[in-house]
Amino acid sequence: MSKKQMSLESFFEKGERPNDEAAEDSKTVNKKKTAFKRKYEESYLNYGFIATGDSHSPSPLCIICGDRLSNEAMKPSKLLCHMETKHPALKDKALEFFNRKKHEHEEQKQLLKATTSSNMSTLRASFLEANRVAKAKKPFTIGEELILPAAKDICHELLGEAAIQKVARVPLSAYTITR
Ligand SMILES: [Zn+2]
Repeated sequence: MSKKQMSLESFFEKGERPNDEAAEDSKTVNKKKTAFKRKYEESYLNYGFIATGDSHSPSPLCIICGDRLSNEAMKPSKLLCHMETKHPALKDKALEFFNRKKHEHEEQKQLLKATTSSNMSTLRASFLEANRVAKAKKPFTIGEELILPAAKDICHELLGEAAIQKVARVPLSAYTITR
């Protein structure tokens, strides 16, 4: 009957995982604090590389193919080697070219971030609604039949068109909460 069956608990457990990973990351950073770390130089963009990851131990990221090298490779000889072996046609491109690629990369990153967080909010809203319906012992069809139109009415009167469009993206019949 339902497309996906998943308990609310396991959903929120999954939602919490990024925090655990962040905690682990900071532990590793503390452990390695004393080791020598190479820093990113603006001039490395000439070789097509930008910095990514932890600012104390940045990794060079190739703006052309997206390859991420280790912090030890953060030096002109290694970066140039990547450019010469992987992208020989581009090695003599002007800085302007790599600058444009860098901007394109940053724009894509921003877009992806915005899309991911709005999808995540939509998914959470859907689960929270399904949980309420289950607790109230109502048929799950009430989401599409009553709750969504009512939420849209409220948005229309109080918040405006943008809010209605956001609410309309919440699937109110996609999940059945298991108890
Ligand atoms: Zn590359």
